[in-house]
Amino acid sequence: MAANADLLARRNAAVVRGVGHATPIFAAKALNSEVWDVEGRRYVDFAGGIAVVNTGHCHPDVIRAVRDQLDRFTHTCFQVLPYESYIELAERLNALAPLSGPVKSVFFSTGAEATENAVKIARAATGRTGVIAFSGGFHGRTIMASAMTGKVIPYKKGLGPALPDVWHVPFPIQGGDISVEASLRYLTFVFKADIDPSRVAAVIIEPIQGEGGFHQADPELMRGLRRICDEYGIVLIADEVQSGFGRTGKMFAMEHYDVQPDLICVAKSLAGGFPLSGVIGRAPIMDAADPGGLGGTYAGNPLACVAAIAVLDIFEREKLLERANSIGRRLRAGIDRLSRANNLLPISAARGPGAMIAFDILKHRGTTEPDAEATLRVTRRAYENGLIILSCGTTASTIRILVPLTVSDEIVDEGLAILETSLVA
Ligand code: PMP
Repeated sequence: MAANADLLARRNAAVVRGVGHATPIFAAKALNSEVWDVEGRRYVDFAGGIAVVNTGHCHPDVIRAVRDQLDRFTHTCFQVLPYESYIELAERLNALAPLSGPVKSVFFSTGAEATENAVKIARAATGRTGVIAFSGGFHGRTIMASAMTGKVIPYKKGLGPALPDVWHVPFPIQGGDISVEASLRYLTFVFKADIDPSRVAAVIIEPIQGEGGFHQADPELMRGLRRICDEYGIVLIADEVQSGFGRTGKMFAMEHYDVQPDLICVAKSLAGGFPLSGVIGRAPIMDAADPGGLGGTYAGNPLACVAAIAVLDIFEREKLLERANSIGRRLRAGIDRLSRANNLLPISAARGPGAMIAFDILKHRGTTEPDAEATLRVTRRAYENGLIILSCGTTASTIRILVPLTVSDEIVDEGLAILETSLVA
């Protein structure tokens, strides 16, 4: 098998620059929370393919479900010859989603398709076009999704004008300079300066910003948005692509709030490593688009649907929500210990609910000044030391942990120990 360096050279010659990658090593095998590169070296995986394998790499139940499906059929297109697994998955998610009243679902393949289609559904339901999104939010890389994404570099720079009628409001971060009150006031300012609220179809928000740095939306913000959406007949969309599927210690991060959205976007860990996304929402809104207006050739692929049903069973059987909370407590205690060590780079305390844990790398102890260069060094040292870990955040100085929820305590501790050696000042 080719060595990492050879594959990197071939990759650089054959594959575009525009697709970045966090490490210069190439995967050969992955199992639960460990991965092996093409040279046979083992790594602890704290990235989970960017929040995709909450049930671990190659969970045997997921693999078995997909193998059984492979023996029957791989594709018929739900729009041509529908199949039961799509319906069963919709029924299970409709029952689980924190939405009252009748609920319906629709499936796609990627997170960006979920957010784009949530907007299409909201537009069909309201007969309006405008969308409100938040600074620092991430909703995907397709044209509408990147218009909603609240970060220019690298997602929009040089990639042409974003779609019109998308307006951004500052996202209030705990300890930041924008309060919840100021953010909501800014929204009313947008309604005066840019778009009449009667033209707004949807407000889209991540309950916990993922790419934006694992910042949780304040409950007061969520209540304020619900109130404004109710007042003006606007659809509230929760983008749970990264925060969903048990990561936060609840199946949906919106369960941490005392208000409900109208639509929820899901993807990533939904299908345990197979490409599947969806929108779950209140039935009258979900049914607004006419037949043919939604869908896609591969949308709700049968292999991915059976994988997702297996994922839901694994969550129940292995009590992964409880496990998310205990992994989170272990990570939090470990990171907080590292934040007090004088021989290490200065870092913030751990933040985030459940196992959606992150911390910032700082220029100076006791300040909040971010250090993007040091963060890059730490993620590089980490994989050199045998740990795959990702950064994120609007200042690229946050380290996020997305370890599978099926990980053992021993591997969590091993990852924390590698993190510690990677943080040596
Ligand atoms: N929304 C959120 C919150 C995400 O984190 C992501 C992916 N990081 C997306 C949407 C887009 O998902 P995809 O890359 O599958 O299109």
